[in-house]
Amino acid sequence: MKIDILTLFPEMVSHALDESIIGRARRAGLLKFNFVNIRSFSEDKHRRVDDYPYGGGKGMVMQPEPIYRAYKSIASDCSEKPFVIYMSPQGKVLTQALAKGLAQKGHIIILCGHYEGVDERIIEEIVDLEVSIGDYVVTGGELPALVLCDTVCRLVPGVLSSEESVTDESHYSGLLEYPQYTRPPTFMGRDVPEVLLSGHHANIEKWRLEQALARTKAKRPDMLDKKGGQPYA
Ligand code: SAH
Repeated sequence: MKIDILTLFPEMVSHALDESIIGRARRAGLLKFNFVNIRSFSEDKHRRVDDYPYGGGKGMVMQPEPIYRAYKSIASDCSEKPFVIYMSPQGKVLTQALAKGLAQKGHIIILCGHYEGVDERIIEEIVDLEVSIGDYVVTGGELPALVLCDTVCRLVPGVLSSEESVTDESHYSGLLEYPQYTRPPTFMGRDVPEVLLSGHHANIEKWRLEQALARTKAKRPDMLDKKGGQPYA
């Protein structure tokens, strides 16, 4: 999987994607990231990339030309138009299901906005999908892009080891995950549930499913409501 990130702050994203599981998968050659600094594509003598909004109002708007040239620097080497995502609070809210769909794509380009956002015409010209990480506003698209990259990349086959399987996890099956315990068996007078120490796999599976259902009902009843009261498999 190849992901190009168009940003004014490449270092904000590059370091985070060097660490832990995603970093390991990069070194193994399963993931390829390319960070493109939009400012390098400014033709202004002061390397400006933003300007005042037409019609007045507060803040600055990212101009379309440097973004377009940054996009072209990647797209002109591609045989078909790459799938372009603009991180935006106006986009489709990121879910596990959306991430699963994006993990099937071999190549995506992510555009990060900043300030008041980007000129609308660049969205019309190059963007295939706007994605939001939730109904709130952050200062730039870099943190949202990291959330998207991490969510999508851990679904790419081979990125997680078999011990780090995704299928039991919260949201994958439409339920929250069951509670997890590790050593010691007693902590501050609280014991690990006995069934987990029993070695009886069928009972453990049954207990985990019951727990997953109960906590989804308690913490996120909306997840069950969405599926007509039934968790989806
Ligand atoms: N004026 C815009 C918000 C700009 S915030 C509006 O009201 O719609 C600056 C940049 O941060 C955006 O261009 C976008 O790339 C990013 N951003 C902010 N909140 C986001 C969110 N919830 N999800 C994804 N990207 C977001």
